[in-house]
Amino acid sequence: MIDILSLELSDIEQALLDLGEKKYRAKQIFVWLHKKQAVTFDEMSDLPEALRVKLTQKYTISRIFPQTVLTSRKDDTAKILYCLPDNEHVETVIMRYKYGDTLCVSSQVGCKMGCVFCASGKAGFVRNLTAGEILSQIYETERVTGRVVHNLVMMGIGEPLDNYDNVTKFLRILAHKDGRQMSHRHVSLSTCGLADNIERLSAESTGLTLSVSLHAATDSQRDEIMPINKKYNIARVITACNNYNKVTGRRISFEYAVTNGFNDSDADAKRLAALVKPLGAYVNVIPVNKIRGRENVGGGNAAAFRDKLLLLGVTATVRRTLGEDIEAACGQLRANTENI
Ligand code: SAH
Repeated sequence: MIDILSLELSDIEQALLDLGEKKYRAKQIFVWLHKKQAVTFDEMSDLPEALRVKLTQKYTISRIFPQTVLTSRKDDTAKILYCLPDNEHVETVIMRYKYGDTLCVSSQVGCKMGCVFCASGKAGFVRNLTAGEILSQIYETERVTGRVVHNLVMMGIGEPLDNYDNVTKFLRILAHKDGRQMSHRHVSLSTCGLADNIERLSAESTGLTLSVSLHAATDSQRDEIMPINKKYNIARVITACNNYNKVTGRRISFEYAVTNGFNDSDADAKRLAALVKPLGAYVNVIPVNKIRGRENVGGGNAAAFRDKLLLLGVTATVRRTLGEDIEAACGQLRANTENI
């Protein structure tokens, strides 16, 4: 069985031709899947019954199912643990902002990157999500919560640029005029700095906002907390960001999670400013969220570090923490469920 939710319009057109059907039917199906968010072929009332039967013999519309829904009593953040068709789990978080709801989606089950402060990669990598499974996090969350997703952040479980083909396919389906039609201007993608794929992404002219998780301003510090720095060091990441910036015209944002006494000194702020100012980039300072089993990492003063950056002329903000009472930081709910 092929998951039709993961197919682009051109793939569905080819599939219809292969079934001996008219190509224009593909657009009807695509609209049903992505605009009307049908979950069965039966609902597709403008398709002949014979075609619907043929489709069910070869294709499925894969679904993910909410297993746990936690809603914060403080701020309306809802976190959903989804069960995938193979019983794996991922997390999705919906957050309320003044300008509309933002959804944080996962791109992989687990993660290969092994950042020491992060819950998502603690038990390693299981598999990539398909384009359909990433889309389903939007469609199902809208169904489950009755809320409408205005903005999307790819900051859930996984490293999106390590699942490059499925993620870029997801982005094309997401923005398609016959589908959900979400402009990439409403999408932010966060990466730990896979420089080669940042460069590949520049060429796709998606218009999304790229966030790069830097978290340290020297290679020796970054090596300690992010193993990927051994492959793509800070200089290489900055070159890729520079390239992304030039090709797309989009301003990059850097994420910097502060830990007391590790990366929050005046000298750290100066080194960080020297890296990001030439790019005109801005910095999102995050207080490190302590995770189970790694209690020694964390507890930085984000506002104080932001102020240091502001004094150095860097545009910097502190990321608002939402859903603290429901373990809304990435990977924590899955980790607890799977006892990782
Ligand atoms: N793989 C992507 C997206 C992952 S999570 C990336 O690395 O960017 C989104 C952000 O949360 C990243 O900046 C990540 O480094 C950060 N993060 C992960 N665990 C955290 C924790 N315990 N406290 C604070 N930030 C954390």
